[in-house]
Formats: sequence, C-alpha cells, structure tokens
Amino acid sequence: MYEVILFPTDGSDGATAALDHAIDQASKYGATLDVLHVGDPESDGDAVEAAAERARDAGLQVNTAVVQGTPHEVIADYVTDRGVDVVVMGSHGRRGLDRYLLGSVTERVLRTVDVPVLVVPMVDE
Ligand code: ATP
Ligand code: MN
Repeated sequence: MYEVILFPTDGSDGATAALDHAIDQASKYGATLDVLHVGDPESDGDAVEAAAERARDAGLQVNTAVVQGTPHEVIADYVTDRGVDVVVMGSHGRRGLDRYLLGSVTERVLRTVDVPVLVVPMVDE
C-alpha cells in the first residue's frame, strides 16, 4: 500500500510529534521514510539529520532532502516527483498553537496534494 512515506519537518516540536507516527507507519508497511526540510541547504541540515537518525535507529531505510522554496509548493512537488504514497506531518510547526486550527503549511499541503495526509495534532502541555 505504502512504499514511500514523506515526513516534512521544520524541526519544531509540532513536527517531531508526527515523527513517531511516520516511523511507525513506515515500519508497519516496510516503506522508505523520506525526511524533507524546506529551507537553506547550507545551514538547515540539522532539522533533517536528527529525524533521519531516529528513523535509521528504528531500522528504516531513510532519504533526506533540504530544498529551498515555498514550503507547501516544495512539499507538493516532492510528492509528485518522488511518487510519495502518504505524507505524515504535524498540525502545527514553529509558530505553534496560536494559529487557528491548522498551520498554514499543513493547510496548503492538504489542499494541494492528491495522496493521503496524516496530520498529527500537537497537544498543549
Ligand atoms: P504558520 O507557519 O502557519 O505560522 P505553524 O508554524 O504552527 O504555523 P506549519 O508551518 O503549517 O504551522 O507547520 C505544520 C507542519 O508543516 C510541521 O509540523 C511540519 O510537518 C510541516 N512544515 C512546516 N514548515 C516546514 C518546512 N519549512 N519544511 C518542511 N516541513 C514543514
Ligand atoms: Mn510554520
């Protein structure tokens, strides 16, 4: 069912909340986990590396990418180009819970991509 699972991350707690779900789904389906950060490839490698390491420790095949551009556009293009089967992402990101129901990147990805998106809520602690 799922061969490639995409976890887009901004390195925030909201994104990290989704990582466990991404790892769990990839393990269950024997899928590859792709970790994508939209940002500066020169300086933003840490966000993907921390997540990739956790996924590799869980025994997964992992790809990482840091790509410059508008987050939801880059994520949508990545889904198409790479043939991603499902996206697992946080309901919120760096800005956090003060922004309505959903973060703007998640909202736009939901409207743009034609694959399922698993949105993991960030719980207020
Ligand atoms: P907003 O950005 O709308 O002010 P926010 O930061 O709380 O609010 P989003 O940016 O939509 O919310 O973040 C929601 C999810 O989108 C994150 O958990 C992460 O999975 C993904 N995401 C956000 N920004 C990026 C990015 N630059 N690269 C990759 N994934 C991202
Ligand atoms: Mn954001």
